[in-house]
Amino acid sequence: MNKDYLIMTPGPTEINQSVLDAMATKGTNPDLDKDFFEVYKDTVTSYNKLIAAKKARSMFLAGEGILGLEAACASLIEEGDKVLCIANGVFGEGFKGFVEMYGGQAIMLLSDWDIGINISNIEKALEIHKGIKLATLIHCETPSAITNDIDLICRYLNSKGILSIVDSVSAIGGEKVTFDDSKIDVLLGGSQKCLSSPAGMTMVTLSQRSINHMKNRSTPIRGYYLNLMIWEDWYDKKWFPYTQPLQNILGLKQSIENTLKIDFASEHKKYGEYVREHFLSNGYELYAKSDYSNTVTAVKLPPNVKFDNLFDIMKEKHGILIGGGIGQLKDKVFRIGHMGENNKRENFDRTFEALSKSFKELIQ
Ligand SMILES: *Cc1c(COP(=O)(O)O)cnc(C)c1O
Repeated sequence: MNKDYLIMTPGPTEINQSVLDAMATKGTNPDLDKDFFEVYKDTVTSYNKLIAAKKARSMFLAGEGILGLEAACASLIEEGDKVLCIANGVFGEGFKGFVEMYGGQAIMLLSDWDIGINISNIEKALEIHKGIKLATLIHCETPSAITNDIDLICRYLNSKGILSIVDSVSAIGGEKVTFDDSKIDVLLGGSQKCLSSPAGMTMVTLSQRSINHMKNRSTPIRGYYLNLMIWEDWYDKKWFPYTQPLQNILGLKQSIENTLKIDFASEHKKYGEYVREHFLSNGYELYAKSDYSNTVTAVKLPPNVKFDNLFDIMKEKHGILIGGGIGQLKDKVFRIGHMGENNKRENFDRTFEALSKSFKELIQ
């Protein structure tokens, strides 16, 4: 395995040397050393600042982003609960599986993949379906490179007494999130997207409303690792449910601090526009029609070009990794992540030049 690729995929991303340095430590025993609880608490404080959460409880679970999605469903859903799955892409549709796995009745609100969610569709769905307790939605649909207006949607859901579970795995640290003001109930993040840490951690934030919801369940939460209530009082009791991955927490802490040092939302917007502008002015077509993501761009593949062939040339001849299409977008698009550490002018210019050469080679 070559260790020196330029990683321009929409997660995992490039990693800053300061994060690698923070992780390269023997450290301590995180179960026994009370100092580690302070490090963890400081990390939570910085993270809450990043998502404008003052009244919320955040925790970091050892596992990839998907663990957070599953843990939220396992902890909040009970047998027979009606859950509105607001979906305009791969991840939005994918929530159905988790909802049903934990006994929920998934009501699918399916929308076009190339535009953001229109709130009037949610209003219509709620008129038809009564008794909905929870809703799942995606902040940035990474495979189709669309951003949904979670502020508008979550405030609306809250006004209807519905708890929101938001997958912001590919937006946290790239788009502004206002957890308290937007009345989000469960917010899910991942370490390997805009925060540019290695994969392996998922961040979960709970509103007081969602904590009360879990406390008032009539049946116990199934699972231990997936039970978000086991994190209650970890700091007061100086106790973690399992041994914490010290190096990953230190890396995450450093990457959150790096993100807080910059005006991260404007930076991502700037690079998002730079990337879209490049493709549009060079004859490419974007997959999205509006509501473009500022953290990832999906570009239509020319007919007759297979993604695997493009990927191989980019990797072998140019040392650059790019993303492809998932689900119905397989061989339809390729994707560039403009997330966190990927965001350097020279990285994009190198990628654009390599893409242009690769396409010339593929379409002759
Ligand atoms: C990356 C990502 C996840 C985590 O899933 P993986 O594909 O396993 O990395 C979850 N939701 C969204 C929107 C993501 O972009």
